[in-house]
Amino acid sequence: MSMKKVPLRQCIGCGEMKSKKEMIRVIKTAEDEIMLDATGRKNGRGAYLCPSKECLKRAVKSRGLERSFKMAIPKEVYETLEKEMEELGKS
Ligand SMILES: [Zn+2]
Repeated sequence: MSMKKVPLRQCIGCGEMKSKKEMIRVIKTAEDEIMLDATGRKNGRGAYLCPSKECLKRAVKSRGLERSFKMAIPKEVYETLEKEMEELGKS
């Protein structure tokens, strides 16, 4: 069995370590915008979440995004993230 090293990232919701491919990246752009980065290719400071609304909710509660991005995150941003998460779940 070959053990390929997979870079692990920690979910800011549940705290589980998973491979990047299984996670959704949330980024802060240079303009201080917070958005989901479904492609994983956008520039910006990133945090990782499982593709689950539960983890997003937990991250909201624990203020994981605030801590990752060192900024206050408006409620509307969370609502947008939640919608985007739903969209991703559909495909
Ligand atoms: Zn999670």
